[in-house]
Amino acid sequence: MTTIRRCTECSRYTMKEICPDCSSRTIDPQPPKFSPQDRYGNYRRQMKREIEMKKELNKDENN
Ligand SMILES: [Zn+2]
Repeated sequence: MTTIRRCTECSRYTMKEICPDCSSRTIDPQPPKFSPQDRYGNYRRQMKREIEMKKELNKDENN
């Protein structure tokens, strides 16, 4: 199974852990669940995840 990842900075899809375009870290987006009630919850969780990833990225840069 091929894992498609997505860049947190430029939203490029790639299979690498580091974006070939901007060298940012990529995430492995969860497959969307088709649950209308949880649509906003999913979106919020994804946003939170991206924010966490950016925090991790900043940590690395400060080191
Ligand atoms: Zn990128």
